Amino acid sequence: TEMVGAEDLEYLIRRPPVVTIMGHVDHGKTTLLDSIRKTKVAQGEAGGITQHIGAYHVDVEHNGQEQQVVFLDTPGHEAFTAMRARGARVTDIAILVVAADDGVQPQTIEAISHAKAAGVPIVVAINKVDKEGAQPDRVKQELTEYALVPEEWGGDTIMVPVSAINGDNLDTLLEMILLVAEVEDLSANPDRSARGTVIEAHLDKAKGPVATLLIQNGTLHVGDILVAGSSLGKVRAMVDDRGKRVQVASPSFAVEVLGLSDVPSAGDEFEVFQDEREARAVSDARADDQRQSRLLAAVSSRRVSLNTLSAKAQEGDLKELNLVLKADVQGSLEAILGSLRQLPQKEVQVRVLFAAPGEISETDVDLAAASDAVVIGFNTTLAPGARQAADRAGVDVRDYNIIYKLLDDVQGAMEGLLDPEMIEEPLGQVEVRAVFPVGRGAVAGCYVLSGKIVRNCKIRIRRGNNLVHEGNLDSLKRMKEDAREVNAGYECGIGLDNFSAWQIGDIIEAYRMISKRRTLAK
Ligand code: GDP
Repeated sequence: TEMVGAEDLEYLIRRPPVVTIMGHVDHGKTTLLDSIRKTKVAQGEAGGITQHIGAYHVDVEHNGQEQQVVFLDTPGHEAFTAMRARGARVTDIAILVVAADDGVQPQTIEAISHAKAAGVPIVVAINKVDKEGAQPDRVKQELTEYALVPEEWGGDTIMVPVSAINGDNLDTLLEMILLVAEVEDLSANPDRSARGTVIEAHLDKAKGPVATLLIQNGTLHVGDILVAGSSLGKVRAMVDDRGKRVQVASPSFAVEVLGLSDVPSAGDEFEVFQDEREARAVSDARADDQRQSRLLAAVSSRRVSLNTLSAKAQEGDLKELNLVLKADVQGSLEAILGSLRQLPQKEVQVRVLFAAPGEISETDVDLAAASDAVVIGFNTTLAPGARQAADRAGVDVRDYNIIYKLLDDVQGAMEGLLDPEMIEEPLGQVEVRAVFPVGRGAVAGCYVLSGKIVRNCKIRIRRGNNLVHEGNLDSLKRMKEDAREVNAGYECGIGLDNFSAWQIGDIIEAYRMISKRRTLAK
């Protein structure tokens, strides 16, 4: 969605550029982000305290004025990937980091194509020029193959040699970013109600849902009513990237916001409403949409799983344990998903239908109910109503705060899906000491040598080394009365429906079959 519309045109003012750093692994993205932050932020701030909220801004002297540049500082690149997947457009300028000693690499090319596809201008930072084997000109040469031609060679791409480690030339890089920003003519209307994108979110045990919002148009105020994703809220407090409580946040700046009812996802858009009823209607509609698409996802994943099931049926019984996973933060989720992948899944497969940070909601329970899943929470809580919904639908909801316990239980649940193994439990040995003909058959007069013999148990009759009969014990009597069991040292009478060829000296082995819970095959 376009964040700035026709209605804003009269009120537009310039806003700072929002910058993302991209490039191949180990080319120095993190070092560059840290280094810019340290040299430009920490020195100016009392105590140098900064707050990691997923974005930070720096002040740069440009054209005799102090101007700002905002950097997205998303940990790993997952959040950014998620934002791209949702089509959220949050970046105005991409800094492409290429190590001067390593040149263009696969992720360099990928970054170029992503930026081009999104129509985002690229500024190249040729990094590690302090290193011995650095060849900045070779990097320029290689980049021309991807239609990035340096200005000094007649092209229009700005390329700045830098050393992220030493801080060399970072000022030039920042100036160049502002130069490109000028050309891009980035603007927003500060007088309208705010809208933008969630760039990070997590559940804090004490503070509740916490989200970092990038303001892309308008101004956000404490007290504003907003909808982020499907989550409704009223801004209770805002903290900026320097750890300061603030009352307002203007275009291109990011703030951490408290007061949402639920944890939105990175890449969700947010919007401020004047009217709480309208906000509620929008959030309800979005919650419905989400619920529907989750259910659809569950149904289609079930369909897939049914196909794989029938395909695997010949190889053996492949069973599935469906899970819906909620955790306090993305990091916990990744740790749990990683550990789940390590569980032996030859016989039972773990299928995670949905995993997200946040509390366990009614929607999660609905999803679990629709797909026979267990809801697993880690360091999180149940939303009001979720417990009742779970009880109603008979959904198993479990909460953990120790990862090993969670994994143990999941493994236990997987084992619970295996068909139990039947094993033989020996009961005792009985010797035939007399044979009494009864009708057409015969009853054996016996003595229990060891253990015991039990009504309805299984038996084997051995004569010397031969097995002469195998079957069930049909009648067991003690002193002519039916007996439930007879212990070692006592006499008893035994009759079988389909065997009567007893001989004195036969040994009856009594046993029963018991089911034993199986463990997962590795
Ligand atoms: P990322 O994977 O792109 O985030 O790369 P990092 O920032 O983690 O850097 C990878 C490695 O390169 C680290 O060992 C850094 O210390 C090193 N490095 C980063 N920038 C420079 C630089 O300007 N000069 C030198 N010599 N090493 C650098």
